[in-house]
Amino acid sequence: MIRFKQKISFAHPKNYSLLLAFGWTGVIAVSLMASITIHRQEIVTIALNVARAYIDKDILYRNWNALHSGIYVVADMGVTPNPYLPDTIQERDVITPSGRHLTLVNPAYMTRQIYELAQKEHKASGRITSLKPLRPENKADAWEKTALQDFERGKKEISSIVTEDGLRYMRLIRPLITEESCLSCHLHQGYKKGDIRGGISIRLPMEIFEPVIRKQARLLLAGHGVMWSLGLISLYVGYMGLRHRTEERDCAEEELKRVNAILENQATTDSLTGICNRRKFLELLHMKIQESRRYAMPLALIFFDIDHFKTVNDTYGHEAGDNVLQELSSIVTGMVRQTDIFARFGGEEFVVLVHKNDVKTGRELAEKIRSNVEQHNFPQIGTMTCSFGVAQFYPDDTAESFIKRADDAMYAAKQAGRNRVETCCGTILQDGEASSDDQ
Ligand code: GH3
Ligand code: MG
Ligand code: MG
Repeated sequence: MIRFKQKISFAHPKNYSLLLAFGWTGVIAVSLMASITIHRQEIVTIALNVARAYIDKDILYRNWNALHSGIYVVADMGVTPNPYLPDTIQERDVITPSGRHLTLVNPAYMTRQIYELAQKEHKASGRITSLKPLRPENKADAWEKTALQDFERGKKEISSIVTEDGLRYMRLIRPLITEESCLSCHLHQGYKKGDIRGGISIRLPMEIFEPVIRKQARLLLAGHGVMWSLGLISLYVGYMGLRHRTEERDCAEEELKRVNAILENQATTDSLTGICNRRKFLELLHMKIQESRRYAMPLALIFFDIDHFKTVNDTYGHEAGDNVLQELSSIVTGMVRQTDIFARFGGEEFVVLVHKNDVKTGRELAEKIRSNVEQHNFPQIGTMTCSFGVAQFYPDDTAESFIKRADDAMYAAKQAGRNRVETCCGTILQDGEASSDDQ
């Protein structure tokens, strides 16, 4: 299985801007979620304070009622006499001189009736509850039971958000402490002043806060949406600017590379013939010499010069001479291998560094070149010849001594009558036998 590993460069303006856009989106999303969470927590605190206010007021009314040992209300207006009042309470029901039936309503009875009224109106509902209720309906439910047990351990108030039948409620309960005024009804249960008799519990539907929550959520969403959009617009504008500058920089770099390539080419290529110039040749020669020394690799150098070239210039003009130089270069380029180095050494002098070959092979190549040049018909001029010198690289050679021996061999060829190949200084044949100098 082939795996592709693609590297994403964040130096590229597009990737960099996309990264920032994702980052910005993340920041906005986190901020939105945090704001909504904080807001919901605030709503819970508000709900708790509302529930507390309910209970505070209820307790106040209860205390007022208890202070007056209960209050009489007209019995035939939907209030039935309280069946849970102990027998010790006398005159639970009285008939006024005008014949109206009044019945005594104690704090618990009053609270229950008010809560029943509130429940009908779908407001906060509440009740008093106890682990030992006088009225069976006041028996604590599971949540209240745990809270009442916690009151025994010293807790003063318990609240939490609960979900009942799919609806969320803020539930709050506070202990009911037995006062002197309570004993008239609760003494027979064994309570004494200061005892926790039960609790007063409130259930506040959280749905009454939903409109506020939704409105705030919409505001937060809109605000964050605006911030997000502005951020992205700014990023886009920045990205366009950055892209423009990057494109300009890339263009400048391309132009610089192009100019450098031209300069490099100009510095290493002969402008007339298009082949390697002397400077580049010497640079490559030094490298090949090192390679030859390290790997004991043979090297041969052919040095050749056009015969009587001055006459060509003098007879046909300098331009015709240039054409000969170009044509000769293209003939030799077609004859050397890719690994050989063919260069214009100066004027009408050329060199071929024969790679991984000794003087014998070098001589053979020089002979072939000589023969091809001799047979070539140069337009307008006719035939031309060249004289060749070939030298073998010795380990103790320097570049200069190596070139000099090839040049000397070429000079010997000139002396010997031109249009010929000469070798210099001890030809070493391929089978290792040393031959005598050709000079
Ligand atoms: P020999 O056989 O002894 O080499 O004689 P030669 O005439 O070739 O040698 P000489 O050194 O007397 O003359 C070389 C001539 O090459 C002189 C110079 O004008 C000419 N030459 C050198 N470079 C260029 C060039 O780039 N273009 C042209 N057209 N001529 C050049
Ligand atoms: Mg010449
Ligand atoms: Mg010359």
